[in-house]
Amino acid sequence: MSRFEQWDIVTGIGLTALSVAAGRALETQRPDSLMSDPYADAFVAAAGPGVPVPRRPEDLREMEARFGADSLWTSLSGYVGLRSRFFDDYFAEAISAGVTQVVLLAAGLDTRAFRLDWPDGCDLFEIDQSKVLEFKGAVLADRGAGPRCDRRAVAVDLREDWPAALLAAGFRPERPTAWLAEGLLPYLPADVERQLFDRIGELSASGSRLAVEHLEEQAKPAPDSGMVQQGKATLGLDIAGMWHTEGKEDPVRRLTRDGWTVRVTLASQAADAHQRKLVGAMGDAADHLAFLTAHR
Ligand code: SAM
Repeated sequence: MSRFEQWDIVTGIGLTALSVAAGRALETQRPDSLMSDPYADAFVAAAGPGVPVPRRPEDLREMEARFGADSLWTSLSGYVGLRSRFFDDYFAEAISAGVTQVVLLAAGLDTRAFRLDWPDGCDLFEIDQSKVLEFKGAVLADRGAGPRCDRRAVAVDLREDWPAALLAAGFRPERPTAWLAEGLLPYLPADVERQLFDRIGELSASGSRLAVEHLEEQAKPAPDSGMVQQGKATLGLDIAGMWHTEGKEDPVRRLTRDGWTVRVTLASQAADAHQRKLVGAMGDAADHLAFLTAHR
């Protein structure tokens, strides 16, 4: 039993994973969608009607009628679709470079194991808390979904000794790995983030790759902002209150010091590349949200 706080898919940080899945469900239904997740809608549906997370375009319209055209959900779903596509492309590049070992840190309801094309012999590890992974496994099993790689769910808290759990699940540190930390860093206190980068460094053979979503301090919404207020009104969550920014080192500096060659793509640049207009809070923050990709 973990000594740290645990959550399920409808409480606390777990609910953020469901919200991101809702973003992917909405993205999938857009006429100009940048990615497709055939399972995202099922997660939100399975969470039950008591959880007011929009999953259909008509739900979004309802939110817009209530909160305005740049509502939290319209803003968030447009950003989540872009972010998912960016990291889908990152994996396509890693595969082209011959990487066949993948780790999704804080996988949440990420279904890349089921929806992307992986090469033969590819091992994909998903780390998250146990209740999140159990919910995901149950919904996917119910839908008869099968992974397109050797997927292993590793139920462990990232504040615990997760490398031991990963190694026990069959991870091989001598193989080049493609890591992903998407929607994770803001939820980690500075010391846990530092340790995460230490451990990734120790487990990364030459030829490894790393992708990270980084929210600069300026991207954190003010407590009285529309985004925070709508998050409280629709989810009962204080989104910004969950984000830790204090005492953190710039990840680009940190990773460069660890021997990674880092490329920074701002969300605004990624959006331009896909002719996607980010609106609302995510649009306002688009120059302070970065997708980092690195290799060494
Ligand atoms: N990466 C996924 C995605 O983009 O769909 C999920 C992102 S969601 C916003 C945040 C995820 O981080 C949740 O699934 C949560 O359970 C996980 N998480 C946060 N802190 C964690 C910790 N200390 N240990 C394990 N998982 C954690």
